[in-house]
Amino acid sequence: MDKLSVLRDYFGYTSFREGQETLIDGILSGCDVFGIMPTGGGKSLCYQVPALLLPGITVVVSPLISLMQDQVTALREAGVPAAFINSSLSADEARAAYADIYRGRTRLVYVAPERLEAEGFLKLCAEVAVDLLAVDEAHCISQWGQDFRPSYLRIPQFLGRLQKRPIVAAFTATATEAVRRDVIRLLTLQDPQTVVTGFDRPNLRFEVRRPKSKNAELDRLLKAHEGESGIIYCSTRKNVEQVCERLQERGYAATRYHAGLSETERRRNQEAFVYDRTPIVVATNAFGMGIDKSNVRFVIHYNMPMSLEAYYQEAGRAGRDGEPADCVLLYSGADVQTARWMIENGEENPELTEEERERLKRREIQRLSKMVSYCQTDSCLRGYILGYFGQEHGEDCGNCSNCLSDRERLDITREAQMILSCVVRIRQKLGYQLGVSAVINTLRGSTEQRVLALGLDQLSTYGLMRTLSKEQVRTYIESLVQKGYLHVDETHQALCLTEKAGGVLYRGESVTIELRRETARSLSGAAEGPAAQSGEADPAVFAALRALRRETADLEGIPAYMVFS
Ligand code: ADP
Ligand code: ZN
Repeated sequence: MDKLSVLRDYFGYTSFREGQETLIDGILSGCDVFGIMPTGGGKSLCYQVPALLLPGITVVVSPLISLMQDQVTALREAGVPAAFINSSLSADEARAAYADIYRGRTRLVYVAPERLEAEGFLKLCAEVAVDLLAVDEAHCISQWGQDFRPSYLRIPQFLGRLQKRPIVAAFTATATEAVRRDVIRLLTLQDPQTVVTGFDRPNLRFEVRRPKSKNAELDRLLKAHEGESGIIYCSTRKNVEQVCERLQERGYAATRYHAGLSETERRRNQEAFVYDRTPIVVATNAFGMGIDKSNVRFVIHYNMPMSLEAYYQEAGRAGRDGEPADCVLLYSGADVQTARWMIENGEENPELTEEERERLKRREIQRLSKMVSYCQTDSCLRGYILGYFGQEHGEDCGNCSNCLSDRERLDITREAQMILSCVVRIRQKLGYQLGVSAVINTLRGSTEQRVLALGLDQLSTYGLMRTLSKEQVRTYIESLVQKGYLHVDETHQALCLTEKAGGVLYRGESVTIELRRETARSLSGAAEGPAAQSGEADPAVFAALRALRRETADLEGIPAYMVFS
């Protein structure tokens, strides 16, 4: 048999996907390989096909028991002699599984990494020829990855105890540079043939919304997706319950999924979703591993996830069939608070030392801050994600909420000067920096207790932006962070100046930003003063005047607020 007939006869596919053939050929020629492919890219096939062609057995290391059971069931249905060995087997079942391997009936053995240290298993591997060790979710070996599993670090020991080192094949969907380096070094891959396939999923439309009411926004989104299948991710079980109940009250066929439910209910609800009996599932991030449903038309994040790795994996469950699908994230500042709390108070891995835990937390905070920037950026969302995963990309994808919205270029030099000098003055007065809210309060001339207690009302920048709303000042500050004039310190969340800020403060450089039209409008609303906000103007006339003003300003080369002020 050759690889193409295996692909056809066992898996029912006629051609390989991007990257698969190179990795399979690599393995068959005896090389270590490293496949970096997005979720749904087809990593499993890269070791399953060789497993059926190599004479000895293939051991697959996979982190989740539930995942390996599903995979093995599916493989068996397709006629592939696969088995798993884990703690869920009874003694009899385990004995039968071992016997099948000894007799050469089983070609693929799935195990959790801990199993590699068990004497019984080591003995087995010493007696049968292991030709290939496939490490799934290989990023678990890296402390830079989002789910570090110390037991992965002991894989090289296992390799050392085999008579002949098998070919090692590693697979992951996490492509950041640090993780890649760790996988190669820690797994001791030997000169691996490495394949990185495109992470881009052009059929997914990315969108971030910052609604006043998430529930109302959810209603709108679901209306637009009536009759379609989708996943709504929430950060907590409580949110899952509330959102799901609310949808059911409104007549949606929705079900729920989280780790607090019984095993039976989880299975039942998952099946109801997969078979479209309840096309909508409201879930925590516990949902989705190993689920292969191709017609998911939308993935809505009711809360912001903790990292872009998690976000892209979850959002990536939409549109597996290649048809257009929507990935919408509903962002609010409260999500950031929750995420920080979860990092600080999350379950601690007992296998780690205190120092390792601290380091892990710091990395989680760093990942979180990238996630927050994604929610705040006015540039291309797809580009932001691809850039994060180390892939080159164009400026404008034409299929995300930022690229699709009308954009306006604004000169915000004056606002930038006010904000940056306020940050300088605070530092001069206190000797340390404050967070974003304190800076906003100072600029808006707040009489809040903390502002007065720190004496911020005596600063010359106090109240400089009092005509603006909190949100408006925040937008300016976020733009300055995006553009690299300000920087939020990871540990204290303090707003600090960067070197670049000096150009604006002391050398008269100007600052322009490009914003989505709505964001730009929400800013210029204030600059136009009370008349524009009174609501008495005829909207058509007002729009015409506004257009004329823009044109005039453009012709004269001056900012719009100087015309008809
Ligand atoms: P990953 O592990 O990379 O997330 P999977 O291995 O689970 O992805 O594959 C995702 C889906 O793509 C599965 O349904 C799989 O059967 C399908 N698939 C994989 N390779 C091919 C192929 N060559 N042709 C068609 N479908 C494929
Ligand atoms: Zn875009």
